[in-house]
Amino acid sequence: MDASPIRDIFVIGGGINGCGIARDAVGRGFSVFLAEMNDLASGTSSGSTKLIHGGLRYLEFYEFRLVREALMEREVLWKNAPHIIWPMRFVLPYAKGLRPAWLIRLGLFLYDHIGGRKLLPATRTLDMARDPAGKPLKPLFKKAFEYSDGWVNDARLVALNARDAADRGATVRTRTKVTGARRENGLWAIQIEDLQTGETEEIKARLLVNAAGPWVDHVLSGVVGLNDVHNVRLVQGSHIVIARKFDDPRAYFFQNKDGRIIFAIPYEEEFTLIGTTDQDYPGDPHDVKISDTEIDYLCAAASEYFAQPVKRSDIVWTYSAVRPLYDDGASKAQEATRDYVLKADGGDGAAPIVNAFGGKITTYRRLSESMLEKIESFLGKRGKPWTAHAPLPGG
Ligand SMILES: Cc1cc2nc3c(=O)[nH]c(=O)nc-3n(C[C@H](O)[C@H](O)[C@H](O)COP(=O)(O)OP(=O)(O)OC[C@H]3O[C@@H](n4cnc5c(N)ncnc54)[C@H](O)[C@@H]3O)c2cc1C
Repeated sequence: MDASPIRDIFVIGGGINGCGIARDAVGRGFSVFLAEMNDLASGTSSGSTKLIHGGLRYLEFYEFRLVREALMEREVLWKNAPHIIWPMRFVLPYAKGLRPAWLIRLGLFLYDHIGGRKLLPATRTLDMARDPAGKPLKPLFKKAFEYSDGWVNDARLVALNARDAADRGATVRTRTKVTGARRENGLWAIQIEDLQTGETEEIKARLLVNAAGPWVDHVLSGVVGLNDVHNVRLVQGSHIVIARKFDDPRAYFFQNKDGRIIFAIPYEEEFTLIGTTDQDYPGDPHDVKISDTEIDYLCAAASEYFAQPVKRSDIVWTYSAVRPLYDDGASKAQEATRDYVLKADGGDGAAPIVNAFGGKITTYRRLSESMLEKIESFLGKRGKPWTAHAPLPGG
């Protein structure tokens, strides 16, 4: 037996996108090898705000395609993984001097109607003097809007996609770094290194998928050997965790004076999760850490709303991650598109590579389907989209 058969697809990266692509591909009958240099979900996919959401504020940047797709994914993902994804209601207080009530109402009307909502309850208006959601807030917030989105255990979503991919026949290697990839006789020859033993190996594949998240450009320059690579903008986002600030099961959506928003979310029963920030990040994504400025920003923004201010000394944990946003030339980090872009190179005798730039946890399954369309344009059609109606392990 050939110990190292030629694989159809080699996936670089064991985040949500790499694992989602591997699962979809193997389920259609492709042979798949996935390498993750650390642990599954050790990159951005465990450092998110953990929302399965349409992204209400992306409407302000006219991202209708993304918002609609993400809204539609909420119920698809919930149905397939109800053990790690569940609905959550969000309370958005109306704040004088910020967005007018008519604009919020319009945004929430679109939110309720453009995304095929069937099970999630619709938006309603709250009288904060009477609703328990008003209790932990300053009394000046008299009115609020309550709408639906979802919550996800992000790292487990990654692991379950990898588990299912492996159960269906994919090879999934963690602690395995891709150190080189070159085109050879119409195939890819990919060098991998087991970071625990130092052993190296070469894998041959027909097509390479670059799903390295914030390292995606680094893979193109350092692994594939291309020059002048600049596709993604790295944008840091941080969260603080404090002891439970309110008893209500609903989360809060707070508008800030700078036009940004933050969430305050019930977290792991005893805590409240507050985030996030948006600032350009120049370093290695693995070294990302919350800055003093971000801590001050999050404490100040939450204290505008809560009757009891959020202090630095309240913080029990923080985490940070780096968004690999497709560089659309936006001047501000918060305005850069959250949509994903897939770019292919090769074909006609040269082994193809398809790169995934950007994306959200919420849209990983649709990104994977789009990736499979690209893959099938090179390798031929194998199967139909199938993941919309396939529960994840345990779901
Ligand atoms: C602060 C913040 C909040 C967010 N909140 C949300 C949210 O609430 N909802 C939502 O839907 N989305 C959210 N997102 C977006 C979402 O988290 C990301 O879009 C998504 O996790 C990106 O996944 P990925 O698989 O592309 O990247 P990653 O998860 O980073 O995976 C890439 C993987 O590639 C591996 N890798 C890199 N180079 C190599 C190599 N040479 N060899 C082997 N492996 C390699 C890395 O180790 C890494 O694990 C948020 C993002 C941030 C930063």
